[in-house]
Amino acid sequence: MRKEIAAANWKMNITYPQAEALIDDILQQGHYLNSHRLVIFGVPFPYLKMAQDKIRFEDNYHIAAQNMHHERNGAFTGEISAEMLHAIGVEYVIIGHSERRIPFNETNEIIAKKIDLALEYEIKPIFCCGEPLEVRDEGKQNEFVQKQIEESLFHLSPSQFHGFVIAYEPIWAIGTGKTATDEQAQEMHAFIRTLIAEKYGQDIANSVSILYGGSIKSSNAKSIFSMHDVDGGLVGGASLIAADFGVVIDSLKKDPEV
Ligand code: PEP
Repeated sequence: MRKEIAAANWKMNITYPQAEALIDDILQQGHYLNSHRLVIFGVPFPYLKMAQDKIRFEDNYHIAAQNMHHERNGAFTGEISAEMLHAIGVEYVIIGHSERRIPFNETNEIIAKKIDLALEYEIKPIFCCGEPLEVRDEGKQNEFVQKQIEESLFHLSPSQFHGFVIAYEPIWAIGTGKTATDEQAQEMHAFIRTLIAEKYGQDIANSVSILYGGSIKSSNAKSIFSMHDVDGGLVGGASLIAADFGVVIDSLKKDPEV
């Protein structure tokens, strides 16, 4: 059975006290979670330890870093390595977000290096992919996403791919208020799962959690998460408001079919 995940991406928002209050508020909401239905807080680097301390005794809550460097260590002022994240017990890392790919020129090759380092240090990547608007307008979104996945992930071994987490985030839907329709999300998620099945087999494809990201709100989470191949979401804006993110968490499928 694959995991249903509500993952928050706070990006470069909120102060330390606001971050503490936000986690406290969400924990107090008392969500129904289990080992296949979980919440991940993707927080800024300076909040990682605080966030970890808050969830230490909570089951099925996890913490993610929002990025890491693609080199192991060295003269990279201001950067954070996989080894550093591992040393403080970070479990997940968001890799390949379009807000890193585009402004920081992160290529599929660089992202592949990050994936390898994260796995080497036992950190689970949340791999983001997704097409810009002009590619969608040309109807070439499948080819675009296929190339991202093939070039950054398809060198992994079957055991590394088992239970992997991918977030499909069409760039035109991130922070724009414009969400993909349920059908557009389902179509792409099914396409991604088929790609994985062709490369690694159906069992591994069924074990992969494919999250949708792009203007998920409390009002649309339930219908988009109800799609067969949508295993939850990576949520930006709505994850900063406890009440809204609470609704998103409660919108996860209760009993995943696979
Ligand atoms: C994101 O940051 O990954 C994201 C999907 O943002 P938003 O929900 O604000 O569109």
